[in-house]
Amino acid sequence: MSAPDSLKNVKHVILILSGKGGVGKSSITTQTALSLVLKGYKVGVLDIDLTGPSIPRMFGLEDAKIHQSTNGWVPARYNKDLSIVSLGFLLGSKDASVVWRGPKKTAMIRQFLKDVTWPDLDYLLIDTPPGTSDEHIAIAEELQFANPEGCIIVTTPQQISISDVKKEINFCNKVNLRILGLVENMSGFICPHCAECTNIFSSEGGKNLASQLSLKYLGAIPIDPLFVEMIETQKDSSLLDSYENSRLYLESFKPIIDGVL
Ligand code: ADP
Repeated sequence: MSAPDSLKNVKHVILILSGKGGVGKSSITTQTALSLVLKGYKVGVLDIDLTGPSIPRMFGLEDAKIHQSTNGWVPARYNKDLSIVSLGFLLGSKDASVVWRGPKKTAMIRQFLKDVTWPDLDYLLIDTPPGTSDEHIAIAEELQFANPEGCIIVTTPQQISISDVKKEINFCNKVNLRILGLVENMSGFICPHCAECTNIFSSEGGKNLASQLSLKYLGAIPIDPLFVEMIETQKDSSLLDSYENSRLYLESFKPIIDGVL
């Protein structure tokens, strides 16, 4: 058995996982994609977080549609180096939600993993649903022959998020998915007035967990209102430009991406 045909033009596959929803998995996927493009790589993003596909909104592509060719789904283009497929592109309206039973969700995920005609890519980033569900097993099964590079695990510093992350780590170990490292998101709050960082939750939970479990700690990203503002105010491909010059990339994410590569 070999890798799905759709992945034959893809050099590395990286999954982005989190134990809980709302911890910033899609934001980290977005920032990883932008950072890789800024480093000169060709990147694809596959959003199979059926609990709330937010990738179209993050890239300002809410009105984009994808269509099926004879060779499978054709990704939407953010620019020449960044291709995107999201279940969100198939939903009728941006407020529509996916109310499917498990088998239908799993079938859709399998289709997205097998039936997309990706262009030549250095990296395909997969934004997965939170937790460890049947959908994750389907993802692991479909990818086992595609030699995935591994996964990035996203957590917030609080204990409640950390304990869910431990389940995620157990899952990765069970399905032999290499953990490239752990990112602690929403780690402190950057004041928009004085740019000082305050720890509003407990701090360093991700860092301590990584050291306990001998995982690579990729770094921390603060809660930064600038990120939300960049997403909300973007026009055309302006997100990439504003991100390149932002403190979020320069001070927080650049070291993280260097740790992944
Ligand atoms: P998930 O994919 O884990 O459900 P999202 O990436 O959609 O989480 O993030 C949830 C919300 O939090 C989004 O509105 C996102 O813009 C915001 N967010 C995530 N990380 C940060 C951050 N570091 N700073 C500011 N806002 C953030």
